[in-house]
Amino acid sequence: AKSHGGSQFQFYEYGMEAELVRRVELERDLRKAIDKGELVLHYQPQINLKTGKLMGAEALVRWNHPERGFMSPEEFIPLAEESGLIIPLGEWVLNQSCQQIKLWINKGLDLDFVAVNLSGHQMKQAYLLELIKNYLDSHQLDAKHIQLEMTESVMATESESCLNLLNDLKEMGISVAIDDFGTGYSSSLSYLTKFPVDTLKIDHSFITNLPDDKDSATVTSGIIALAHKLGMQVIAEGVESEVQRDFLLQEQCDWIQGYLTSRPPRLKSLKPGSILIIQ
Ligand code: C2E
Ligand code: CA
Ligand code: CA
Ligand code: CA
Repeated sequence: AKSHGGSQFQFYEYGMEAELVRRVELERDLRKAIDKGELVLHYQPQINLKTGKLMGAEALVRWNHPERGFMSPEEFIPLAEESGLIIPLGEWVLNQSCQQIKLWINKGLDLDFVAVNLSGHQMKQAYLLELIKNYLDSHQLDAKHIQLEMTESVMATESESCLNLLNDLKEMGISVAIDDFGTGYSSSLSYLTKFPVDTLKIDHSFITNLPDDKDSATVTSGIIALAHKLGMQVIAEGVESEVQRDFLLQEQCDWIQGYLTSRPPRLKSLKPGSILIIQ
């Protein structure tokens, strides 16, 4: 900021202050949001490319803020991570997801699992395993009905502690997917051969420009082949069009997830407490 002129500097300072106030207020509100029942999960189906069969559904959290309306996780998850609120928030998401899939199973819906996003902070909690066991027990749920999604960047940077956790989860029967694959800044892919991981999710950014963009096509085909060679399944996320789906089918991708098969309602139109039922 020091290179800016006087008036710009003030404006910049003012902007920072406003941003700070906003963050403090949001953090205060988020602290209460869980108890006040303002968080909502939206479930996006994951579809088998060859058969069209439903496999799982990813739980995506939204916040129905009393004044600001529905907020995207892109806005409040980073805040939750910085403030430590991601721990109670993440626990709520896990418990809620267990409750929801139990309901679906009881209703006879043929759904393998709910996929839950796990933050790096949650991975470091010593009692995470115990917590998951308790949720599964209290909902009388088999471990195979929960899949955990961990991002590639978290996995690559927390490699030592991650390996222990993954081995324990594997033993419990909980499957794990590597989220946002291809965007992590890891210089080495060696963790892929060490970690017991079931599924690889190709990041949305590679899918967007399929099939015309040659680089995206090459990376996508390469990731699919790599995953299969390592005995892993592949999900493409952010699939929006038929041409993207056709390309992925031709490249032997296993599953797709995206607006093509399920478009979440616009945030404003979501009703508090509503749960999207999978078609
Ligand atoms: P993500 O795990 O990569 O989730 C995929 C995001 O892509 C979701 O955004 C989803 O709504 C969006 N999406 C799905 N299909 C399409 C498509 O066809 N086109 C486009 N353009 N987008 C699509 P969302 O729900 O806003 O979530 C954003 C991120 O917030 C997630 O990225 C995840 O990192 C984080 N997040 C969401 N829920 C949770 C949670 O319960 N816990 C944690 N720790 N993070 C969460
Ligand atoms: Ca995810
Ligand atoms: Ca992702
Ligand atoms: Ca993402």
